[in-house]
Amino acid sequence: MEIKFERFHLQSDLRSPLKGFEMISVPTEVRIDPLTKRRSRIITWGLPSQGKFDFSKMAEEPKECFFCPDNVLQKTPQFLKEIVPEGRICIGRAVGFPNLNPVGSYGSVVVLCPEHFLHLDQFTPEIYEEGLSVAIEIIQRTMAFDPDTRYWQISQNFLLPGGSTILHPHLQVIGDPIPTNEMEWLLNASSSYTQRNGTLYWKDLTQIEKGLGKRYITPIKNVHWFVSFAPIGFNEVCGSVEGHGSITTLGKEEIASLAKGIVSTLKYYYEKDLNSFNFSITSISGETHYQLLIRIISRTPLQPYYLNDYTSFEVLQSELTANIIPEELCREIRPYFP
Ligand SMILES: [Zn+2]
Repeated sequence: MEIKFERFHLQSDLRSPLKGFEMISVPTEVRIDPLTKRRSRIITWGLPSQGKFDFSKMAEEPKECFFCPDNVLQKTPQFLKEIVPEGRICIGRAVGFPNLNPVGSYGSVVVLCPEHFLHLDQFTPEIYEEGLSVAIEIIQRTMAFDPDTRYWQISQNFLLPGGSTILHPHLQVIGDPIPTNEMEWLLNASSSYTQRNGTLYWKDLTQIEKGLGKRYITPIKNVHWFVSFAPIGFNEVCGSVEGHGSITTLGKEEIASLAKGIVSTLKYYYEKDLNSFNFSITSISGETHYQLLIRIISRTPLQPYYLNDYTSFEVLQSELTANIIPEELCREIRPYFP
């Protein structure tokens, strides 16, 4: 196995006004992802929490919301008859329909629940089980109609800092015949790893991380939950589903395991006074070197004088930052998982 955990220690020395202008040293770590070789910068300082944001006023305004129960079956788009003859897909309380503003070949929305707003500690595993089941049904039916659409993202953008204008909890399901940048990087790197080593990168990584015990959170059935060595966002938690590359082949137990991990992560974020997040499940059919992956990251919370967490470093230098040491995050988040 050739998995290496490479890192550079950087240090900045300065005379601090907070310490009577004595010299202080502030460390930064640059870590290289063992698969993609992408660099991440782990900063060791953070701004203090401003406490929990009061959402009562924002959450009071659901009247115009197309995703609320009075509107969702009246005012949202319907699928083409050839794909979903009944127009929309409903499982439990979740409702799936095409996105009126798609960004690719097939864009859908899954409204997760009738509630217009949920705090991060109010999401339940059942909500995600139903939402992911609708997403899977959308993907299966679309692929039956157009088998070339092999590349899928099932994502959630929660609140304005996460890029969502709509407060009402929902997923995005996006399918294309071509991969995104991230998909191509993962596929190329996973495939080269297998060619060089004769093994599956994800299997080797799980084995190593389990042995080290510093970043491996827990298995839930055959989903391995861990913190990346080189995270690509704040408080990043990952889950890799053993034996699957596409979400379409998951059974009930595997969907439930994904749902539990998402909810556990959100509970931790809530305790940390965070309120906005993104996750993305990358699902690719017909690739034996790839294993289904979910990444969940927190965004800087919605608060007065909101601070965006994507600076010139991320958007112009493509160097992603994390604000907690991954091994610390793993230690802190473990108790939140079943
Ligand atoms: Zn609503």
